[in-house]
Amino acid sequence: MARYRDALCRKCRRESEKLFLKGDRCYTDKCGVERRKYPPGQHGQGKGKQSKLSDYGLQLREKQKVKQIYGVLEKQFKRYFYMAKRTKGVTGGNLLQFLEMRLDSMVYHSGFDSNRRQARQFITHGHLTVNGRKVNIPSYLVRVGDVIAVKEPSRDMAPLQESVSKIEHRGVPTWMDVDTKNLSSKVLRLPSRDEIALPVQEELIVELYSR
Ligand code: SF4
Repeated sequence: MARYRDALCRKCRRESEKLFLKGDRCYTDKCGVERRKYPPGQHGQGKGKQSKLSDYGLQLREKQKVKQIYGVLEKQFKRYFYMAKRTKGVTGGNLLQFLEMRLDSMVYHSGFDSNRRQARQFITHGHLTVNGRKVNIPSYLVRVGDVIAVKEPSRDMAPLQESVSKIEHRGVPTWMDVDTKNLSSKVLRLPSRDEIALPVQEELIVELYSR
């Protein structure tokens, strides 16, 4: 499976924004964006990145940002975009909804892992069920009413317990019901745009693909 291998904090620094790719570390003063407020690379310190961007550049960066947050590569991202376009409603909002309904996103929101990257690993290692059936595909699209649960033998894993213990601090989305005792969660409804707390201008992505 293809995936990004670049250092995670570099991705945030490239966007000059915290993308929260590393979980707990992102909330500390060890955060790469906090420590080095300039783009990565040899000439990073001399760049006035945002001021030089064209419309196309801005649209492209916005798309890259969303891809980095969700850990999705171009081909798959494009597929979500066309699915969103075919779906009734606002294309940009639909796009984010599809991304949120990926199983790795749901595991992250459920607090079973502190970031989406770890959630992907957790899923591929076969620790999860959806509606009682084992699912090990991070891009699996969860539907309203589906129940995600950690398999019985995996429930005592230390990283899982540690992550769940911090769920109150992180907060659970209002469109989900998380049972931290039984390590399961349920999707109550699709999130509205307001409930997807991301610093993203998705309309720029729509404009980019409409060129
Ligand atoms: Fe981004 Fe988190 Fe690294 Fe900060 S610590 S730069 S938010 S990945």
